[in-house]
Amino acid sequence: MDKLICRSCNGEFSLSEAIWRCECGGLLDVDFRASFPTEKIGGRPSGLWRYREAIPVLDDRNIVSFNEGFTPMVPLDFNGKKVLIKLDYLFPTGSFKDRGASVLVSKIKELRIKKVVEDSSGNAGAAIAAYCAKAGIKCDIFVPDYTPPGKLAQIESYGAKLRKIPGTREDTANAAFKAAENCYYASHYWNPFFIQGTKTFAFEVCEQLGWDSPDSVILPVGSGSLMLGVYIGWSELLNAGIIDKIPRLIGVQAENCAPLAISFNENSDEIPSIEKKETIAEGISISTPVRGKQIIDAVKRSKGAFITVSESEIKEAVRWICKKGFYIEPTSAAVVAGINKYLKESSPDEVIVSIFTGHGLKTAEKIAKILNE
Ligand SMILES: *Cc1c(COP(=O)(O)O)cnc(C)c1O
Ligand SMILES: [Zn+2]
Repeated sequence: MDKLICRSCNGEFSLSEAIWRCECGGLLDVDFRASFPTEKIGGRPSGLWRYREAIPVLDDRNIVSFNEGFTPMVPLDFNGKKVLIKLDYLFPTGSFKDRGASVLVSKIKELRIKKVVEDSSGNAGAAIAAYCAKAGIKCDIFVPDYTPPGKLAQIESYGAKLRKIPGTREDTANAAFKAAENCYYASHYWNPFFIQGTKTFAFEVCEQLGWDSPDSVILPVGSGSLMLGVYIGWSELLNAGIIDKIPRLIGVQAENCAPLAISFNENSDEIPSIEKKETIAEGISISTPVRGKQIIDAVKRSKGAFITVSESEIKEAVRWICKKGFYIEPTSAAVVAGINKYLKESSPDEVIVSIFTGHGLKTAEKIAKILNE
């Protein structure tokens, strides 16, 4: 039976209930039997909705899509070692968040909800705003007032109501959480349907490798919507008998804000309350990830690890990767720095996949500044 399950009290709800968390306040997960008719899938248009039987939106008429997804996967040489990179900065709104937005906003349309709220460092807000614009759904997007101007302009251009909140990323999250008492929360970390979209990353990688799994996947981790989705995706492929192993999942965090890396490396059951320092990787600057324990559990089950990268390593990565022809934002370049560290330990024949998550055009001023330093 397909359903929503509460992670705190095991309460169960129908997939057609308009809720984003349990009555007890707990986080919800989607329990859904995904299937992969590989021959049929191969003949479909090349977007993430080709995995139709694995996405818990009930009626096709509710799908909100720009034919996004099935992003290119290209080999990139790192000092003689090859890594396969998924170019997710090429999504319609310029970040991988469109994976989650397409599936979540489709679900919101299915639930006949007319207005939502979301909070974001910029990219999730832009993605939700764009898909809501397409579906004719109103949205308020909460962002920290330090958000780069390119991201603010993008969110507003889609017709969303922009709510700039002074203070930290956490102050913004609190303001949105409060607003969500009276409005459906299209949160990329609370709402389980967003994560049902990010999981399509794993499906695409699998199909692009000839329905096989790589040895390891290196991903940035802020609130963990990507890491969790990718873990769920590989788990579903394993359960369906398509692959026989889940790849090692390697999370990259900024040294200045690395609560999950700290908890993982100390083998602690708690997520430490850290005093975060500023980072140019604003998209992964999350000091209290709501699904923190779930993320660490996923990384552990995959026999993966966490890597942290310093501000100077991220800046160096921005300069290096742009020279290779990839114009990506600093948050996205943090992964490049993480790949460099990971490759020092990796075995020569390891099949490694990673991702470029966000487009450089969103943060052009920031990149220019880094180049001139
Ligand atoms: C949101 C975001 C991330 C981090 O994703 P989480 O799901 O929050 O872990 C990484 N890179 C970019 C460009 C982002 O927008
Ligand atoms: Zn509950």
